[in-house]
Amino acid sequence: MNNINSIKEFERANKSIPGGVNSPVRAFKSVNTNPIFIKSAKGSKVTDIDDNQYIDFVSSWGPLILGHANDKIIDSITKAAQKGTSYGAPTVYETEMAEMIVKMIPSIEKVRMVNSGTEATMSAIRLARGYTKRDSFIKFAGNYHGHGDSFLIKAGSGAITFGLPDSPGVTQASAKDTLIADYNNIDSVKKLFEEKPNEIAAVIIEPVAGNMGVVPPNKNFLKELRELTSKYGALLIFDEVITGFRLAKGGAQEYFGVMPDLTTLGKIIGGGLPVGAYGGKKEIMDNLAPEGPIYQAGTLSGNPLAMAAGLCMLNELNSNETIYNELEHKAKKLEEGILKNIKITNTKAILNRVGSMMTLFFTESEKVSSYDEAVSSDTEKYAKYFKMALDSGIYLAPSQFECLFVSFAHTDEDIDKAINANLAALSAL
Ligand SMILES: *Cc1c(COP(=O)(O)O)cnc(C)c1O
Repeated sequence: MNNINSIKEFERANKSIPGGVNSPVRAFKSVNTNPIFIKSAKGSKVTDIDDNQYIDFVSSWGPLILGHANDKIIDSITKAAQKGTSYGAPTVYETEMAEMIVKMIPSIEKVRMVNSGTEATMSAIRLARGYTKRDSFIKFAGNYHGHGDSFLIKAGSGAITFGLPDSPGVTQASAKDTLIADYNNIDSVKKLFEEKPNEIAAVIIEPVAGNMGVVPPNKNFLKELRELTSKYGALLIFDEVITGFRLAKGGAQEYFGVMPDLTTLGKIIGGGLPVGAYGGKKEIMDNLAPEGPIYQAGTLSGNPLAMAAGLCMLNELNSNETIYNELEHKAKKLEEGILKNIKITNTKAILNRVGSMMTLFFTESEKVSSYDEAVSSDTEKYAKYFKMALDSGIYLAPSQFECLFVSFAHTDEDIDKAINANLAALSAL
């Protein structure tokens, strides 16, 4: 494919933006190539500034479960914009959004809107600490919870991709209160609780890990976490920034039937606009200012454009009875095609899938159910695979440690093309 314009624009961007991008993984560094600059998108397709068209499986990293530029969402945003873009005062939109979230996510009784997933997780941890009057919390190696200081310890996503699990600029003081456990290893969590029975405010987890590639929780892992946190008086926080509204209307908590104390949301909840939220039990949420003493605020939180887009998205997901079945059907078809290709080509790889999120790991490991198994993957092989897919018009995440997202906009033809491109790439690897 001809990428002349993207190459030129990347050079230009590098002069005024660090690394040429506003979020690191976009730079395509871990796949050793030049990023494509997007000009427009519709449905399942994106078009770059060299007029190449791709079937998009990045889906803006998760938000676009209905595909790009969904007509109803665009219409809602347009109508809202004509009435003003921000007031810094309450609107009925915000109440409707809160009511919708409370209705859809089983464990949420009250919810606060913020502007990103990062803000949601930072605020949830502050709330958990303030509520329990404890300082430490447990996170899992390879789980990513946004770029807040205390989360950038053994974080996933860009932090694995770039080999910066501990970013410079994160102080020892904030790192010391972040305790690290192993995903899918309940004993590693037990051990931390036994060492510090009265110091741990919360356990935060991606109920399906998505930021070390897709790694599903082992049977009973979430349930055991629920029991352990309750036993020690710590809060269980599900970071459902990816899984919320993706695995089911009620996210991973509905899908697995395990209820956390607090839930963080992002991505899909904004319908493609910058939105995050955190919510949970009333008794905990009512500790937030102005009702309680724990401070959290935002000039643009609950922004009318963002609420219009988000509400429209949630309404669609809530009212369309077939959507999650269809997503499952499309994702399963893609999974079966890829598994067949792996067999035919004798490729050493593992495909993990939960609902409409999946990752193809190029690894010799028999399974990928832990961080260590995920990072055993051959990232050079992934880079080659990525480039071949891109050249055949399939846009995948530019890193081994991310998800492929199937959206409602993907057609059977898109899925077939993706399976064929996968076969060609695996054959050539
Ligand atoms: C993307 C992500 C975040 C961060 O959200 P931003 O909107 O990028 O700040 C937090 N947690 C998880 C699980 C994510 O995937």
